[in-house]
Amino acid sequence: MVNIKQRLKQVLDQVHAAEEKYQRPRGSVKLLAVSKTWPLENIVEAAAAGQHCFGENYVQESISKIDNCTEKLEWHFIGHLQSNKSREIASRFDWVHSVDRLKLAKRLSKQRPGDMTPLNICLQVNIDNEPSKYGFLANEVAAVAKQISQLPNLKLRGLMAIPAPCDNFEQQRTTFHQIAALQQQLVDQEMELDTLSMGMSGDMEAAIAEGATIVRVGTAIFGPRNYPTP
Ligand SMILES: *Cc1c(COP(=O)(O)O)cnc(C)c1O
Repeated sequence: MVNIKQRLKQVLDQVHAAEEKYQRPRGSVKLLAVSKTWPLENIVEAAAAGQHCFGENYVQESISKIDNCTEKLEWHFIGHLQSNKSREIASRFDWVHSVDRLKLAKRLSKQRPGDMTPLNICLQVNIDNEPSKYGFLANEVAAVAKQISQLPNLKLRGLMAIPAPCDNFEQQRTTFHQIAALQQQLVDQEMELDTLSMGMSGDMEAAIAEGATIVRVGTAIFGPRNYPTP
C-alpha cells in the first residue's frame, strides 16, 4: 500500500529543496498531483493531506471524479482533448494545459459558461519536434498565442511541454531551457504569461532549475500506474 500522505510530503520536500538550490522563491513552484487512473478515494486522501490541485488526462474518467467529488479542489486537464469532448471540459475544469490547436481554443472559449471565471490555458509545445506528438511546433507558437490571447473566455497563462523521456540531467535541462526561452520570447512581445507547466516525476528537478512554475507529478505521489500514458 502506498502511503499517499508520506509520498506527497516527500515530493513537496523535493520541490522546496529544488526551489532553494536554484534560487527560486519559496512557493514559486506549484505541485499538480496527476491522479489519472486512480480512484476518487485516492484524491480525497491527498486532499486531506493538504493537496489542492489535481491533474486528469481522460475525459470520461475525470468527469465522473469531478461530479462525485464533494471537496472544493482545483482541476487541471492535461491530456489530449478531442474537439467533440471539449464542452464537458470547458464547464468543469479550472485549467487546460494541453491546448494544441486553434480550433480547440476557439471551442473552449465559446463553451466556457458565462458565469464561470475565464478558463486558464497553456499552449502545449511539441518541443522535440516529434511528428507523432501533440502540440504546436516552436516556430508556430508566437502567432497562435497572439490569436488565442484574444479569445474572450480564456486566459492564456503560458506553455506546457512533455519532453521525450531522458535520464540525463543536463540534457533534461537543455530541453526545459528551450521551452523557457520560447516563453521568454512571448513575454518580450508584451504577452502577460506567468506559467511554465513542465517537469514530471522523472525530471522535476531539471524543470524547476529552468523555471517551471507547475510540475505535474503522478507516480511519485500515487505509485506506479497500471496502464501508462498513451
Ligand atoms: C501522466 C502524466 C504526468 C505524470 O507523470 P508521472 O511520470 O507519473 O509523474 C504528467 N504530465 C502529463 C501530461 C501526463 O500525462
